[in-house]
Amino acid sequence: MMLHWIINPGLAVNELLLGQRVPKVTLEDKISDKPRIERSFVPCPHCNTYHDGRTWSIHNGTAFKNWFGLYCPNCGQIIPCLTNATSFIILILTYPVWGWFKSSLKENWLKKQPDRYRELSYESLPKPYQGKNWIKSGLLWGLFMLISMTLIFLLFEGKAITLGTILIGIPLWTIGGLGFGYFMKKYSMKRNASH
Ligand SMILES: [Zn+2]
Repeated sequence: MMLHWIINPGLAVNELLLGQRVPKVTLEDKISDKPRIERSFVPCPHCNTYHDGRTWSIHNGTAFKNWFGLYCPNCGQIIPCLTNATSFIILILTYPVWGWFKSSLKENWLKKQPDRYRELSYESLPKPYQGKNWIKSGLLWGLFMLISMTLIFLLFEGKAITLGTILIGIPLWTIGGLGFGYFMKKYSMKRNASH
């Protein structure tokens, strides 16, 4: 999962535009018999709090806009995150543009964070990969990737999109999306073998 986050160029869109982030360290409860998504924890290296992995989720409205990292609602500091390789290149190339505003942007962003974490809930979360939901989630992901990869391709190659790229892209990302959905179903719903 971590390697995928770093090498998939399309995820630069998630990271830079949407502000979706993946922490550098995620811990897994090896004793609980719950699905993996319910037994993952993110430690804060500043205050040593073990946060439920679902603290930063679509359900809580905190899955996106985390441009500066994952905010720790306990101590107000930032939990270190991975950086996608394509994002990294884009950030370096555009540094002269945003470098000037970095501190003020971060300050404004930090001010807004406490409000976002006032009411966190882990109950009755929608399960995007449970049952047959993985098909819809996977296809949506494939569509998102098709659009993102086209954007990234345009940015780096500077070429116009041809009918050919779309005709190859659609079946490719339909299969890719279904594969991703199925993997996520297996991954996020995985229980410990001992139970
Ligand atoms: Zn903390």
